[in-house]
Amino acid sequence: MVGVSPDAVILCFHDIGRVGRYAITFDTFSGILDDLKPYEVVSAGEWLRTPDANTTRKQVVLTFDDGYASHRDIVLPELRKRGYGATFFFYNEQLLGDKKWRAALKQLPAAYDIGSHSWSHSSLGEAPGAELFRELYLSREHLAQLAGRPTQLFAWPYGSWSEPSAGAARAAGFSYLFSVDYRVARAADIAKIIPRFTVMGSGSREQVRSILAEFERRMPDR
Ligand SMILES: [Zn+2]
Repeated sequence: MVGVSPDAVILCFHDIGRVGRYAITFDTFSGILDDLKPYEVVSAGEWLRTPDANTTRKQVVLTFDDGYASHRDIVLPELRKRGYGATFFFYNEQLLGDKKWRAALKQLPAAYDIGSHSWSHSSLGEAPGAELFRELYLSREHLAQLAGRPTQLFAWPYGSWSEPSAGAARAAGFSYLFSVDYRVARAADIAKIIPRFTVMGSGSREQVRSILAEFERRMPDR
């Protein structure tokens, strides 16, 4: 992957199809997807592979955390209908208890990336080395076995990271580390920590619309 990707809005979703702090209803979700029509909606991997010079439309990256059943049953069909790509971040303990997702992982089309979200979804900012080994290295190995393909993408649970944990993540084979910093991701972020916007459970469609309006006002970073 080349480090000259265009600026992108990276959205982070949780459960779809119910109401909750970070969960959004189906109608809100499909409304947000409709609002994204003017954009090139891609996976994180596709964004990382896109040279800035080749883009014709601004890119929005969709990411889905925590391996909810709704991502498989609701999100994937909606994305496929619209030709949108996306990235799904899983944590191994969840996958171990979810036979359907384990089966679906092996069939995911190329437009959909997978990434690790740690082994047990624990906060890794202050974690000791032995825990980091399990949460990062073993998580990556195990996920690669389950999916039949390796990943270089990692999302910090709770957005919690530190310089030592980021060093351990890179040593474990994760070249691209995602957090939640509520700002547009730029090429310069790729070698550091890549910011995302968490979509909140209420006012979500308005939230995404205002993120996109701000994105439209930005001048290209060159
Ligand atoms: Zn999570």
